[in-house]
Amino acid sequence: MVTPTCPKCKNAIAGEDINVAKDVAFCRVCNVSYQLSELTQGSELTADLDLHHPPPGAWCRSDGAGTLVGATHRSFGAALGMLAMALFWNGIVWCSCWSPFRERSTTFTSACPNGFRHRR
Ligand SMILES: [Zn+2]
Repeated sequence: MVTPTCPKCKNAIAGEDINVAKDVAFCRVCNVSYQLSELTQGSELTADLDLHHPPPGAWCRSDGAGTLVGATHRSFGAALGMLAMALFWNGIVWCSCWSPFRERSTTFTSACPNGFRHRR
């Protein structure tokens, strides 16, 4: 994790004084605002990373050219949940859209006025 520090007083800038979207970091001690990208430029991650045992959803691939690290938020459980939700919703749509047609079609074919016959 990278903690931006004020270049003037060397104090760490608190998280509530950082706005990543606006690229602003504000030092309350010096009362000066900086560009966050300038403060974090050139810094490296210092966390101990075990690339051979990535966390769930992440993967690491090494080849001769280098190491490629990626992650996905897909999961089998989420896919199963989406399938159940889609089947449930499509069941509602199917019943509400097609059952009135089905009832009407049986009404038209079974109840003919006197003197008329069904087509065969
Ligand atoms: Zn400062």
